[in-house]
Amino acid sequence: MVRVPLEEEYDIAITGGTVLDGIADSPFPADLGIRDDRIAAVGDLSHADAGRVVDARGKRVVPGFIDIHTHSDISVMFHQPMLSMISQGVTTQVVGNCSLSMGLARPEAGFEFERRWLQAHGVDIMWKDMEQHLDVVRNSGVATNYVTLAGHGTIRKRVMGLADRAADRSEIEAMKRELVLAMEQGAWGLSTGLEYTPSGYANLEELVGLGTVLRRFGGIYATHLRNEGDALLEAVHEALLVGELARASVQISHHKAEQRQNWGKVRQTIRMIEEARNKGVDVWLDQYPYTAFMTNLSVQILPRSVLSGTNEALVARLADPTARRTIVSEMLAAHPDWEDASEDGFWGRVEVTVSRAHRELQGRTIAALARELSKPPVEVALDLIVQEKNFVAALNHAISEGDVEFVLRHPLTMIGSDAIGIGPDGTTGEDRVHPRCYGTFPRVLARYVREQRVISEAEAIKKMTNLPARRLGLTDRGVLRVGAFADIVVYDPNAVRDVATYAQPHRPAEGIDTVIVNGRIVWERGQWTGLLPGRVLRRNA
Ligand SMILES: [Zn+2]
Repeated sequence: MVRVPLEEEYDIAITGGTVLDGIADSPFPADLGIRDDRIAAVGDLSHADAGRVVDARGKRVVPGFIDIHTHSDISVMFHQPMLSMISQGVTTQVVGNCSLSMGLARPEAGFEFERRWLQAHGVDIMWKDMEQHLDVVRNSGVATNYVTLAGHGTIRKRVMGLADRAADRSEIEAMKRELVLAMEQGAWGLSTGLEYTPSGYANLEELVGLGTVLRRFGGIYATHLRNEGDALLEAVHEALLVGELARASVQISHHKAEQRQNWGKVRQTIRMIEEARNKGVDVWLDQYPYTAFMTNLSVQILPRSVLSGTNEALVARLADPTARRTIVSEMLAAHPDWEDASEDGFWGRVEVTVSRAHRELQGRTIAALARELSKPPVEVALDLIVQEKNFVAALNHAISEGDVEFVLRHPLTMIGSDAIGIGPDGTTGEDRVHPRCYGTFPRVLARYVREQRVISEAEAIKKMTNLPARRLGLTDRGVLRVGAFADIVVYDPNAVRDVATYAQPHRPAEGIDTVIVNGRIVWERGQWTGLLPGRVLRRNA
């Protein structure tokens, strides 16, 4: 009998696996058929024709992970494959967080901070607004889908530069117009970074004013709180107040309590959040599954007053002996324990990670450097900031494991890496990044699901897929059903694990077998396939 060649029913069939669709509470066996960029069938496809069959026997088939909190707008111009992201199963990233959005930065003075990130990799800003930025990203290509927030700090710079003061009424109106424009051009919300300048100069009136714009567009208010340590409760109170007064939907970013004396406060903050929800405030959380945070060293240690103004002014202040003496005594008065150079003290937990002029310092603690140089640790840290012109990042091992588990268990919490999409080769491989860049999602599945049983696998998948999709209003993603976009991860539930460590962060996770974005395979057999099928998703498209 002659077999008539039929046109294949599916471009890709994923067969023999068990599915967690982002909604169901337990896995069920089903095959998936993909045609073009969508899921065309869910069921028994054992007799179907497909151009390509992915054998998923013994594997889990789930929606692609939606990373609700990343900074990959920084790297999208020099690292389109987003290796650290696709290798852990991320198919959609929300960028522009913590008040900083490249899409609203401009190629001119005042935006040095944003430009330094790009210039270190030989690129510069080549857009004037969000519309142009999103066009550039679309044209240059990206491996994951791309959802952007408008950064409050970047908007504030467009209107009032680095002015260290509250905005007046006309300035608030000008910022609102900037936000309206960004939302019309495709942003999905606003991000604040109230621990950073200039976002931190905003008062409640400014934040509520901007929040009312979000309400109009249905965008989210994602906030890196004003403080995540000693003043955590006050900072959460402020975020909830913005949500209540502006009637905006609040996303508390990378929720945690920093430093030992604050551990356990997340129990109070979550109670505050639940009470706010009972009053009608729409508020959610995200988290990365690690006990160290990482950011600019200066933000971690310098008093707010010292951080103001331009970067050059900050560095000059720290280099001036008289100003320096005043700053050091202010720091030590607030933190008497900062004299301690032992590994058990504060500085023993602060580990240099990105020091481009002095790579040999990466991985050393400030305490160790202080002992080696026979200098007070505060002076060592300030010297480093001066030498690196304030372009130095550090890990801070200051979060409790118990808090991580408590926040993860809460049904309002979704997963966000707070990472930048990068790769192990070339310039991005030289920075000692946080292991969350490569390990966030597999670590939840390995450590917190399989090993510690903090949450179930189905709950974890919801937090990584359907919850953030509904949160954003992303239709047809974060779920496996006929008609949805084919953003899919196939992983081995017994083998999936993060292998990136603080000492060796550039290591892709294990057990993530196949990653599909918009119906195209981007990651298989431990490798990028060379495709860039990610789409720029515009809120108002
Ligand atoms: Zn942040």
